Amino acid sequence: MNLILMGLPGAGKGTQAERIVDKFSYPHISTGDMFRQAIKDGTPLGKQAKSFIDKGALVPDEVTIGIVNERLSKSDTNEGFLLDGFPRTVEQAEALDQMLADHGKKIDAVLYIHVDPEKLLARLTGRRICSECGATYHLTFNPPAKEGICDKCGGALKQRADDNEATVHERLQVNIRQQQPLLDFYEAKGSLKTINGDQAIDSVFKEVSEILGVLAK
Ligand SMILES: [Zn+2]
Repeated sequence: MNLILMGLPGAGKGTQAERIVDKFSYPHISTGDMFRQAIKDGTPLGKQAKSFIDKGALVPDEVTIGIVNERLSKSDTNEGFLLDGFPRTVEQAEALDQMLADHGKKIDAVLYIHVDPEKLLARLTGRRICSECGATYHLTFNPPAKEGICDKCGGALKQRADDNEATVHERLQVNIRQQQPLLDFYEAKGSLKTINGDQAIDSVFKEVSEILGVLAK
């Protein structure tokens, strides 16, 4: 099955990706990994991507799409794949459809893990990290025994600069604006499957598995 995983930051996409890969053995294709690999392998597209990244510039669509195309041409994707972080725009989604069609394939489902943005704000701003050993905590989901103190080493817990409320709020807004046209695109195609991400990890994965089970029939 050819799948795309979508969700806002903090919605639990990474955890669900691990579970899906574990159970269904599809390769997990994240944009970050793909770029790193292409750059490491020194492919022509990898070199192009690196020249933009080194300048601090955005990698143009044709380079990103080319790298995705190279990755999806590898034989480990024959039985299916899980795309994560791509496409980011409707133009990229259209290019993806085209490249899959060239291989006689299509996207079977877009799994969208939905969590109310207000709840994501609480999830993301509740993270704390130990300034000594780097252990991570969460005020709600994984609090330290003593407020502000690391259980492991007694170091002081602090919030990362980009986890403060204003920054997280802005990051979520940017992602919401970017994501909506894509959700509309896949909704119109009938491939969007919305999953309730505001429940225990196991329950979220149960919903994912049920959708994939039904699709496989
Ligand atoms: Zn510590």
